[in-house]
Formats: sequence, structure tokens, C-alpha cells
Amino acid sequence: MKPHRLLTLALALALVAGVEARQARPAAVAQPPSVQVGASNAPFWTGLSDAASFTRAMDARLADARGSLDRLLAAPAPRTIANTLQPYDDVLLELDAVGSQAELIQSVHPDARVREAAEQVSQKVSAFGTELSLNRAVYDALASLDVSQADKETQYYVQRTLRDFRLSGVDKDDATRKRIQQLRDELTIIGQDFDRNIRADVKTVTAKNAAELDGLPADYIARHTPNPDGSITLTIDYPDSLPVFSYAKNEDLRKRMYMAYQNRAYPANMAVLDRMLAARAELARLLGYSDWASYITADKMVGTAKHASDFIDQIVAASGPKAEREYAAILKRKQQDVPGATVVNAWESTYYSELVRKSSYDFDSQSVRPYFAFDKVEQGLLDVTSRLFGVTYRRIKDAPVWDPSVEAYEMLENGQLIGRFYLDMHPRPNKFNHAAEFGIRTGVAGRQIPEAALICNLPGGQPGDPGLMTHDDVTTFFHEFGHLVHALIAGRHRWVGIGGNNTEQDFVEAPSQMLEEWTWDPATLATFAKHYQTNAPIPSALVRQMRRASEFGKALGVRQQMIYAKLSLSVYDRDPKTVDTTALVRELTNRYRPYPYVDGTHFQTSFGHLDGYSAVYYTYMWSLVIAKDFFSQFDSHDLLSPGVARKYRDTILVPGGSKPAGQLVEDFLGRPFNFKAWEEWLNREQP
Ligand SMILES: [Zn+2]
Repeated sequence: MKPHRLLTLALALALVAGVEARQARPAAVAQPPSVQVGASNAPFWTGLSDAASFTRAMDARLADARGSLDRLLAAPAPRTIANTLQPYDDVLLELDAVGSQAELIQSVHPDARVREAAEQVSQKVSAFGTELSLNRAVYDALASLDVSQADKETQYYVQRTLRDFRLSGVDKDDATRKRIQQLRDELTIIGQDFDRNIRADVKTVTAKNAAELDGLPADYIARHTPNPDGSITLTIDYPDSLPVFSYAKNEDLRKRMYMAYQNRAYPANMAVLDRMLAARAELARLLGYSDWASYITADKMVGTAKHASDFIDQIVAASGPKAEREYAAILKRKQQDVPGATVVNAWESTYYSELVRKSSYDFDSQSVRPYFAFDKVEQGLLDVTSRLFGVTYRRIKDAPVWDPSVEAYEMLENGQLIGRFYLDMHPRPNKFNHAAEFGIRTGVAGRQIPEAALICNLPGGQPGDPGLMTHDDVTTFFHEFGHLVHALIAGRHRWVGIGGNNTEQDFVEAPSQMLEEWTWDPATLATFAKHYQTNAPIPSALVRQMRRASEFGKALGVRQQMIYAKLSLSVYDRDPKTVDTTALVRELTNRYRPYPYVDGTHFQTSFGHLDGYSAVYYTYMWSLVIAKDFFSQFDSHDLLSPGVARKYRDTILVPGGSKPAGQLVEDFLGRPFNFKAWEEWLNREQP
């Protein structure tokens, strides 16, 4: 997941722009041999300590952006790259940093005052971005540039930027542009409300006594001290809730957890969501589109809402036969416990899937946890990516961070500092409660090194707790790190507008999903998955069993993803007055999934992607199809060899957003992507 809040269309699209030929950098911008680590390259939290210092620093950067904008507008004719495009990109550099940092800090800072200050900064920077995207004078200045002699990267940057300005409504009349600005400002606040409600709602579920935790792992039980009356309080955060779905024998506990979990931010977000849909629909109409889904897909790889819908249909059809077989196996297993059962309920699906894996595939997902202590996985991930991508890491103990539990690292290539990142990996009150990579600032060659952060909620981080992770957790860690590597390795372009992992939004989940593949490789796992007590490496037979068992449930998982994808598209592809989000959830759940919709649940209120990704959640599956195709190029018997990995780094990661994603795909594969590898993966019964 990548929650990059799109500041405005123009800015977002500028940051998403692609360009050709990163090789074609003109001599005039030859890069210095190493990045100068000056004030602007210090860790971003340097000198920041409280709400006032954060606001002051961000305001100063916004003032710098304003200064660059004034310089651009005041530049004398003729317009040149130096007097027009450079100050434009300087504005973006500040907006990118301020927007990213405010987004991060409002999501993670332990002090409510700092989070609130960051929300206010977010509003300011979003408003600035919108104003910029509607500034006709800036558009005219950029449009009058003669870039015929410029390098291809610059030519493409300008061309894309002009298109983005038009998409954001710069050519509309004054009244329309004013309304667009209002709606975008309103959407910033709506999005903040939506996210805040999700973050703040930590519902609890009470187990009446220790017996109700039967089936749960010993370390889970040990972590939960009973209340004086013997009851045990659980939260709906991942480390508490997911094990209940998988392992709790007590059906009622599972059901209570399910109801709480599927009502996070309910009812608070129902009205917020309706406001969000209405504002986006109006915005799309002002911009000349019939609905938001049509508008937001226009600049994606997928191109149109119709094509996104066709893609979902194709995935649904491809996964049908296997999903039916999987459901039949789960129902059959339930019938052993409940003779004559005719249906599996949603709060039973994970539990019985786990039992099928145990009985039919001789695999107990608990059995691998002792090999996945957090610290060992973390070190292993660093070692693996270091080998694959030719970089090294250095822990920095004294870097200023927003919470004492956060670890800071530098990324180096040939001894040269090329990036810095922060790992904030364990739950904390009022912290963003999913897993995501957050940008902090985009790197620019010779000017500033990129920074990024992982915000996760994985086990561990408490004294005495080894943080034994499930394999799913390990995969999540690799996934998010895939985004981070992409963001940092792509951080050496001339223009901030095309640097980092700001590629087309429906491509951005390909590098992250591809890195997950290494968590299934016995040889890779043997390098770090060592028993937390004995240090024995994970037996390869156990990994093979795990892989075999993982084949079970894939098609049902794909169908669940298509519920999310179709919901995301459907709430945005029609008149919002006709949208009843709960009715849509019910209808799509019952259409795509054999477990019926459970009355009284409202997962849409905590489906944060309805804000960040809006209509384009299909993006994950689209990117997965690409990721499977990419992965098919690697030698599955020697995944740690750097050969293909280096080509992948150079053709996919390094270019960042400097080329259209379709071009990146062809540069690596030598052809456009296809569904072959994805279908093989889906239908595989034996790895
Ligand atoms: Zn992701």
C-alpha cells in the first residue's frame, strides 16, 4: 500500500509524469560525483520537536515555494528552461516535501497537537497545489517554452505537465476554477476526516475468560494479561484481530471480532464517505467528465473506467472455477465440525481455511512463526535487497525521529549516500493502523537525497517479546520495502516532478508485489529465517509445505480483491445520489464471494483506499499481473543472483516516473505485459 495523498491533479500528475531516455541527460546538467550533505540533506526531522517548530519549518518552505512561483511569473521574455521550468520544479520540490511530511506526521506522531498541526499544514499545501494547478499564467508560461533543443526527459516532463494542467481545469472560466478550488480544498478536509476516524476508532472485544482464547498461540495469550475479573480485552488492530480469525476455536469470539472489525469508523464515516463521493462527482463534471471514475482513469495505464471494469470482469471469470473448488473444500471441513452445514460464514472462512491447510496440506501456519522473529526478518530483508539491488545499508542511531521506537537507516551505493529511510514498525496508539510506505521527500540528482518511511503494525517492539511474525507479516514487510527501494533508487533525476516512485498509479504496486516473491523462496528464507531460540534455519521441507498450502485459497483471495476493486469503481462511476454504499457492499460481496454478506457490517467505512485510491483500487490486481510477468523473468532456482535483478533495477526502479510505465514494462520484458504468468500462478496447485 502506498498512501501518497494526491495534492492536486496537476501536481500529482506532475509527480506521476513519465519521460523517455533518462540516459539522455545533457552535459549542461552533468551531476557532481557525490551528493553534498548540507542542511537540505539532513534527516527531515532535524530541528523539529513540537507543533510550533513543525508549522514554522513547513511555512518557511511554503514561503520559498511562493518565492519561486513569483520568480517564474516575473521572468522576462524569452521563457527558458532556466527562468521558467526550473522555478516551476522548485515550487514542486517544496510542495512535495511539505505535503509528504505533513501526511506522514499527521498519521504517526504520538502528540495530538503535532498531528493537528500537520493536518493544518496538509490543508495549506493542498490549497497551494490546487491554486497552482489552476494558475493560467503559469500554464501559459510553460506552454510558451521552446523545448525542442532540450533532452527528451525534459521535453516529456513539459508535455505531461501541460496535459496535467488541462486535466486539472486550468483552461476553465474563472467561476468554474473557483468552484474547482473550493471542491479540492473540501476534499482535503473530507479525506482527513475519513482517515482520522479510521485511526481513532480502536474498538475492543472482550473475551469473557481465558478459555475463550483457546486455539490462539501461546505468545498471544501471554501478551494479553487478564483484567481483574478474568476477562481479556482485545483490540481490532492487526496483531490482536488477525490471529483470532485464524485460530480462535470459539466461534462467538471470532464473530464478535468480525463484527467489530468490519465496523471500524462506523457510523462516523458513513456521512463522510457520502460527502466525498458527492464532491468528487461534482468535480468530475466541472472538468468535463460524466463521473469521477471516468476522470481518474484517464491518465492511468488502464485508460478508461470501462477498461478497468472489463479488467475486473476478466479476473473474476478467470478465478471462478478454482474459487468454487476452494469453497467446497472449506465447507466440507466445516461439515466435520457442524454436520449438515450448508454455508460457511465470513467469520469462519479464515479459520476453516487454516484447518484445510492443516489437514489436507499438513501445514500449520503457526509452525513457521518461530523462524520469523521481527529482528531477524528485518536484517534478512536488508541483506536480501542489498544483494539484489547492489546497495548497502547503515543504521544511524542518533538521527532525529518522531518517536523513539523509530529506526533510521542510510542507503549507500558504492559508498555514496543515495537515500535515507525510517522504519516505524509496531503498533502505537493513534498511529496509522495499516501498513504503508510514506514518501518524505523525492530525491533530485546533485541536490537532495530522497527520504521515505515504512509505517507498519507488525508484532514485536516490546521488551521481552521476540515479535514472532506470521508469513503474511513477512510478506507485508517485503511488500512495503519494495515501495521504499523504488522510491529511493529512483531518486536521482534532474526534475523532482519525474523522480521517485511517482509512476502511473496502476503501476506503482508492481515493484512492491514482486518483492513479495522472495518470501516464498527456500534459499532466500534460509539466509535469515532462523529459529528465535535455537538459531536453526527454517527447514526447506517446511517452506515447501507452506508454499503448497498457500496454493489453497488464492482464488478466493482474488475474488475478495475484486469486491474491493468493483466497490471502488462502482461508488464513483454513477450519480452519487443513487449510491447506497452498504447496498453495494452487500451486492458485490454476494456476487463475487461464496461467503454471504453479514448484515450489520460496513467495511467501507474503514476502507481507506476509497479516499486515497478513490475509483482505482483495481490497480493492485493490475499491478500483480505485471509483477507476475516480471517475476517470470527471474531464475526461480537462483533468486539471489544479481543478474536479472540488476537489469530490473536499471529498467524499472532507476527510471522512476521518468518514462510512461508501459515503456518501462517493455524495456524490461522486451514486450508488453500479458496474463500468462498470472494465470499460471492462479491455477497452480503444486509450486
Ligand atoms: Zn503497496
